[in-house]
Amino acid sequence: MTCDRRRVLVTGGAGFVGSHLCDRLLADGRDVVALDNFSTGSRDNLAHLLDHPDFEVIPHDVAFPIHLDAGEIYNLACPASPVHYQFDPVQTIRSSVLGAANMLDLAHRMNATILQASTSEVYGDPEVHPQTETYRGNVNPIGPRACYDEGKRCAETLCFDYHRQHGTRIRVPRIFNTYGPRMHHNDGRVVSNFIVQALRGEDMTIYGDGSQTRAFCYVDDLIDAFVLMMEAADDVTGPINLGNPHEISMKELAGHIIDLTGSRSKLVHTGLPVDDPVQRCPDISLARRVLGWSPRVSLEEGLRRTIGYFEASLRGVATSDALIEGCPA
Ligand code: NAD
Ligand code: UDP
Repeated sequence: MTCDRRRVLVTGGAGFVGSHLCDRLLADGRDVVALDNFSTGSRDNLAHLLDHPDFEVIPHDVAFPIHLDAGEIYNLACPASPVHYQFDPVQTIRSSVLGAANMLDLAHRMNATILQASTSEVYGDPEVHPQTETYRGNVNPIGPRACYDEGKRCAETLCFDYHRQHGTRIRVPRIFNTYGPRMHHNDGRVVSNFIVQALRGEDMTIYGDGSQTRAFCYVDDLIDAFVLMMEAADDVTGPINLGNPHEISMKELAGHIIDLTGSRSKLVHTGLPVDDPVQRCPDISLARRVLGWSPRVSLEEGLRRTIGYFEASLRGVATSDALIEGCPA
């Protein structure tokens, strides 16, 4: 079956990354369908697009099949914050694995190209540093993070099996920690937690001793890489690491956010979550070589923009305004 090649499906379109991707694709003149079950995403993230003539929102859970017309699919539907993906781990696996199978099936039927949002979590608690795409990872398959890590690993497997078995055109980016405006204030990830705590003058919660490292990519840089990857030649299947290789410890990150907000918040140490990776940083040589991409927004600039967003969005928001009812974020 042939399809409308201008039409793009973005699953998880109401989420943090998905909503920025919808903005970019519409700005590029594409017809965009955002599909979402609104579990961690929000209609607010898409409110400014609802009157756009080339934009449509479909409420749907990717764990169930759907038939619609699209020439490109960006499959982003899956909770990404550890607090939220561990809240309903069975649904997380269903979203990842059944979601990928359903979207690959759709791509196969529509002869569409599919980009599957994978993650640095496929490397688990890595013994190779920085992480290259050839590293096979160190994931605990039965721990509390496994619903996400193994779900995403299985989604990668499905992509490559569809590619080998059916010739489906696939793109598999492995996304490292990405942050920016439209993260939910109760998202639970470190950048939004620290900024919200700093702006409210609350204690900043460092898990463990804060020596664990991450490398943070500003969302606009990630979106540029997504589009470059989708437009690349069909042999650019990935996996390709996408992230900003500026590695810092969580203690240093808290210090930067205190400096940038002028906050008087205190740093408090709480328990380190089970299986929390000790270090993480992408080797992005492959993305530089194959996509001609590298991140442009510095951590300081990205944090400034994100702090500006939260300063505006937190006005009038209650502290207890949970993202998912019953979830302790
Ligand atoms: P997010 O939680 O803000 O967005 C995920 C979106 O998917 C939400 O809108 C949510 O409602 C939707 N969703 C979840 N399960 C669904 C289902 N079964 N059916 C339909 N919609 C569903 O997270 P994000 O940071 O925007 O992440 C987007 C994608 O990028 C995810 O696949 C995530 O695994 C991947 N990723 C993100 C990061 C990051 O640092 N932001 C890092 C690695 C990978
Ligand atoms: N973290 C923290 N305080 C918080 C939230 C997270 O110290 O309030 C730590 C967490 O233990 C991890 C790092 O920050 O080591 C990044 O956590 P996040 O949940 O953002 O993403 P992850 O990379 O673990 O998926």
